[in-house]
Amino acid sequence: MIKQNGMKSMGPGPNMSADIFHSDYREFPFWWEAYTPQSGNLIDIPRGVRVAIIGAGYAGLATALELSKLGIDAVVLDAESPGYGASTRSGGLVGGTASVKKPLIAPAPDSDHAARMTSDAGDGLKLLERLIDEEKIDCGWHKTGRFTGAWSKSDFRRMKAHADKLNSLGNANAQVVAPEDQRSEIGSDFYFGGLLTGEAGHLHPALYFQGLLDACQRRGIAVCAKAPVENLQQADAGWLVKTSRGDVRVGDVVVATNGYTGGLTPQFQRRLIPLQPYMLATEPLSADLAKDLSPQNRSFADSRRIVTFFRLSSDGKRMVFGSRVKWRDMTPTEMAPLLYDVMIERYPQLKGTGITHAWTGNVALTLDEQPHLGRLDGLHYALGCNGSGVAMMTYLGTQLARKIAGQTNYRCAYDTGEFATHPLYNGRSRWFLPMIGNYLKMRDWIDRRWR
Ligand SMILES: Cc1cc2nc3c(=O)[nH]c(=O)nc-3n(C[C@H](O)[C@H](O)[C@H](O)COP(=O)(O)OP(=O)(O)OC[C@H]3O[C@@H](n4cnc5c(N)ncnc54)[C@H](O)[C@@H]3O)c2cc1C
Repeated sequence: MIKQNGMKSMGPGPNMSADIFHSDYREFPFWWEAYTPQSGNLIDIPRGVRVAIIGAGYAGLATALELSKLGIDAVVLDAESPGYGASTRSGGLVGGTASVKKPLIAPAPDSDHAARMTSDAGDGLKLLERLIDEEKIDCGWHKTGRFTGAWSKSDFRRMKAHADKLNSLGNANAQVVAPEDQRSEIGSDFYFGGLLTGEAGHLHPALYFQGLLDACQRRGIAVCAKAPVENLQQADAGWLVKTSRGDVRVGDVVVATNGYTGGLTPQFQRRLIPLQPYMLATEPLSADLAKDLSPQNRSFADSRRIVTFFRLSSDGKRMVFGSRVKWRDMTPTEMAPLLYDVMIERYPQLKGTGITHAWTGNVALTLDEQPHLGRLDGLHYALGCNGSGVAMMTYLGTQLARKIAGQTNYRCAYDTGEFATHPLYNGRSRWFLPMIGNYLKMRDWIDRRWR
């Protein structure tokens, strides 16, 4: 039931229709209805452990978990509640392939590097499945594949070669879907066919996070909420990590702050551009409508430069839809009507369906559009998800733990020793974002109409 006359709280902007907002509307991540990040009883900061991990998202928890399995004790410190960052706010789409396309301003990875990244991305998906299985994480994991809709005819023509490349680089189980066949994948005629990737699916991101947190706590790992790290001092052979709730002496520090990286680590802040994708969830749909939208319960993305990503909720009852429409900062409630229009373009049958939730969170972009793992100024890091980190940041955290433990079989294609920065970005003002956003929008517009 759509609320007709505005909302109880947080109304849309002056020129935006309130008609789309359900009477239960909240500016709140839909996933938090099942699990809200919480601080609980604050546990004390330990005085000394081997490793301090800054940031309790997938990357930080996965590092701590693997270190514990390797017999190394760690503390995880988060400025807010564990899971407050992107890890409980995402779309929950999970893929097992790497991005090997040419980045906007950096060279494309060579074929050897692309093959190693693809192999690692496949390993990331396997790791996620193993963790879900071993830790008995009930997070609605559906390995139902991903349909990437072709935004333009030329995108579709390129998809066959792309499918072949993905299959040869790794076992992506990719194939093209002709326009006349796409109705069996998606209840939409919006796309010019698409690419189906078998090694993919979707999960409930907050329940997956909760499962990882439970696994850490079962192993006695200290995960400290409300403990912003305010200062890092090199001391003896290690570090003195100063938090607002006390100091801890450690041998190694891991930075796992991704899109929330701040002035504590300026060397990473200027290598990571925070960006906010926006999301909405609809009211529960009829079973017939849900089946029509997603006959195979796949996850969905498209080949547009400004990517759109969506899927049914884990219980199959709602549409959960994400993208970004404008490039100035807006609240989720202000962005929701614009996002709704993008959804209706793809799914006209959702017109009139109310939305119950809208939210956002931070991802981190890097110049080469790839995630990075490594060591800089003595600090270990797993950073730069570029919008896709459910499996990848879990994987990088796990690999980083193996590296810190000095495992002889450690290898990671994302540990390149290079982490580019740009002289025109100081880590604070994102003055160039509207320019790049509008450029990408224009290219998308041209492609859709003429190519
Ligand atoms: C709206 C949205 C949709 C997304 N959709 C998808 C998707 O469908 N599929 C996918 O794969 N990925 C998706 N992502 C990306 C994915 O959520 C992230 O890549 C992933 O969660 C990053 O995990 P992380 O552990 O690196 O960082 P986060 O989970 O962001 O954790 C970083 C933590 O660092 C903490 N922190 C920062 N500074 C300090 C400090 N000084 N002291 C202590 N703590 C600090 C923060 O409080 C935060 O909790 C999406 C992200 C968003 C925001």
